[in-house]
Amino acid sequence: MVFVLKLGVSRQSIEQFVGKIEAQGFKTFLSTGTEHTVVCLIGNTSTIDLNLVVETNEIVEYGKRVTEPYKAVGRTVHPEDTVINVGGARIGSGMFQVISGPCSVESEEQIVMVAKAVKNSGATMLRGGAFKPRTSPYAFVGLHEEGLKLLLIAKKETGLPIVTEIMNQTQLPLFEDVDVIQVGARNMQNFDLLREVGRCHKPILLKRGFANTIEELLMSAEYIMAEGNSQIILCERGIRTFETATRNTLDISAIPLLKHKSHLPVIVDPSHAAGIRALITPLARAAVAVGADGLMIETHNDPANALCDGAQSLNLEQFDELMKDLKGRITYENKQMGIDQ
Ligand code: PEP
Ligand code: MN
Repeated sequence: MVFVLKLGVSRQSIEQFVGKIEAQGFKTFLSTGTEHTVVCLIGNTSTIDLNLVVETNEIVEYGKRVTEPYKAVGRTVHPEDTVINVGGARIGSGMFQVISGPCSVESEEQIVMVAKAVKNSGATMLRGGAFKPRTSPYAFVGLHEEGLKLLLIAKKETGLPIVTEIMNQTQLPLFEDVDVIQVGARNMQNFDLLREVGRCHKPILLKRGFANTIEELLMSAEYIMAEGNSQIILCERGIRTFETATRNTLDISAIPLLKHKSHLPVIVDPSHAAGIRALITPLARAAVAVGADGLMIETHNDPANALCDGAQSLNLEQFDELMKDLKGRITYENKQMGIDQ
């Protein structure tokens, strides 16, 4: 972090300012230019409120962060890619995984049928919502505990690890047998929940909030990691923009940027980004092309009658086609094919 001081400030006030900063445990480095003096802070400055320093110190013209406020999730501190092992499926550092399944678990027959089909097509994890965050309280909100039980049956039948969303920290005991706990877009900044999942020893799939910046996503991952859990998969799932033709706007540049800034694996959910079935394959190709470590795709045995998100769900044949399409691309763009394991 650096503070650029105003023109013509006295040596005494600079010393006072520097003394105040050093009293907080930081080392400082002064760069004296022809006009301005710049005070550089050395140390973990994530606790400093930059605007407060500018507002409360008259001699400061402006301040700027030069290192990221996130430390644990940043590449600066941890340059190697993190690889996360989910029941034998490794994700990150060129190992690519596809998570597939319906938006919501609807019945045993449905989830088992979808699980078997997506596994046959090459998916390595099964998704399915048991607790659904819905905009309307009158919409289908999931089968709750029963949905979790049905996911476990599908896991038993197929061997696929399961990924499902948690809505709040009181549900954690129910997630004992879940392989990957999903923190959805609407909960990305539920800091109490982030702290609690940070204390558990399971991989966490952290989705980007639809109105959150890349830095905010990384700071939310930092919450989880600060509690000791470093198994975090980041997910770009589209953000809200002025465009209404798609459900959200897939922020494709977020993928290489996140991978540049962080060592964590990054996956893409084109289903919630687009909201339109026909866009899923092109967006999945784009995700692979920009170096994503995986995909999350909504797939349903009967999308027309799905209880949630049917319009964006692929049917079983369409998912199979998508996987065939991706195979050739993944070998080219991503060094290893996790989906061939
Ligand atoms: C989901 O994956 O089912 C979901 C609700 O996604 P998001 O949190 O990205 O909206
Ligand atoms: Mn959905």
